Amino acid sequence: MQSERTLVLIKPDAVQRGLIGEIVSRFESRGLHPVAIKLMQVTTDIAERHYHEHRDKPFFMGLVEFITSSPVVAMVWEGPGAVAMVRAMMGATNPADSPAGTIRGDMALSLAMNVVHGSDSAQSAAREVEIFFSAAELLDWENSGAGWILAED
Ligand code: UDP
Ligand code: MG
Repeated sequence: MQSERTLVLIKPDAVQRGLIGEIVSRFESRGLHPVAIKLMQVTTDIAERHYHEHRDKPFFMGLVEFITSSPVVAMVWEGPGAVAMVRAMMGATNPADSPAGTIRGDMALSLAMNVVHGSDSAQSAAREVEIFFSAAELLDWENSGAGWILAED
């Protein structure tokens, strides 16, 4: 399977609830590789660009207010089929529909405060990674000397 990169945000609710480690741990345990991780305050400009597809939805203003309300952890994870894998690990958009074992199914109750964001396609991932990270912030594991055995097809 093709190695992919995907953008994940640990949203303000999860950062405030002390869930950073638990969420990072799930992606690490699954075998994805972290390419970038930073704690940051999302600006209104970044939030509006990131959630551009939802600009005409009734929940857009609340979404931008929430994601800019306190720090998030922005991350890029890499691995075979990483985009769909992260989405599967996250669960459904509404935590009420997320099975136990998924991040939202185990850690969230609220649709608005649903703990994590994950890119929904490879195209979205490429667009979103660029919004949150400069090229220099993205680690190149294959040329890093870390000696990791990269996942095979
Ligand atoms: N959202 C909301 N109300 C809705 C639909 C979505 O507050 O009726 C929020 C929810 O937190 C979701 C985010 O808007 O995570 C982005 O929506 P999307 O449909 O892209 O869901 P996701 O890709 O995060 O699962
Ligand atoms: Mg989405």
